[in-house]
Amino acid sequence: LPATPAVPGPGATSAAASGPTPAELEARGITAWFGQHQVLDRVSLRMPAGQITALIGPSGCGKSTFLRILNRMHELVPSARLGGEVLLDGEDVYDPDKRLIDARRAIGMVFQKPNPFPAMSIRENVLAGLKLTGTKASRSVKDELVESCLRKGGLWAEVKDRLDAPGGGLSGGQQQRLCIARSLAIKPRVLLMDEPCSALDPTSTRVIEETMKELAREVTIVIVTHNMQQAARVSDQCAFFLAAQGTPGVIVEHGDTDAMFQRPRDPRTSDYVHGRF
Ligand code: ADP
Ligand code: MG
Repeated sequence: LPATPAVPGPGATSAAASGPTPAELEARGITAWFGQHQVLDRVSLRMPAGQITALIGPSGCGKSTFLRILNRMHELVPSARLGGEVLLDGEDVYDPDKRLIDARRAIGMVFQKPNPFPAMSIRENVLAGLKLTGTKASRSVKDELVESCLRKGGLWAEVKDRLDAPGGGLSGGQQQRLCIARSLAIKPRVLLMDEPCSALDPTSTRVIEETMKELAREVTIVIVTHNMQQAARVSDQCAFFLAAQGTPGVIVEHGDTDAMFQRPRDPRTSDYVHGRF
């Protein structure tokens, strides 16, 4: 990995605005269990640097599990077991010699339900990740970082005059954009988003979609979505997950988004993307 600091040191004032570079993420032969229950079977997927990959498929087929495996959140469930490999620009994310915090720092996550720290100010929310990773920065570097992350999150214009107001006072859509800004502050190279818009109104959804397209220049995005129009609008490539009755989830088909929507190779993909499931 290039030795890019997560956050520029003091003195590197203008560096706060320049972004990190996106990384390629690759899953190889991922198999996952919760206890005796196998939920994924040999799932392989390359998520190219700087692209948006959408994971689609019915509920329960293992999309969230797959996403959590990518940044080692799967390990938090005591019964969870895992086979296969996850590579970030060719380096093993599960390498026992590497620190967990480094994997999580490089691979950020945004959840379905916006989860800002409600009592913390908007500014402190954006900076919260720096405390967790023990990064020190001067006041001016922090100010610059707060502004650049809120701009990238598509929220700056709405909150620039009330950065000290509590994050919990924002609307749902604004809270989700605050969570995106918070993820960006630690300069991840990949951003995982698990149904980031399914709790939001259509207007906020569209703002977040525009934000994602801008972001893909500096961070590789992997998004789980149930909204086929959204997958078609934002993603470069799609992976269709399916778990047939009583069997673990697999990827039935993946590839270029336009091709998958217009000329799906598998009849099950065609049924799913056209809402016949
Ligand atoms: P999706 O996101 O596609 O809806 P999930 O990854 O959430 O699917 O779930 C896949 C399967 O794994 C489901 O059968 C679900 O019940 C099971 N599962 C998910 N999380 C856990 C957990 N923490 N413990 C046990 N089983 C789980
Ligand atoms: Mg899910």
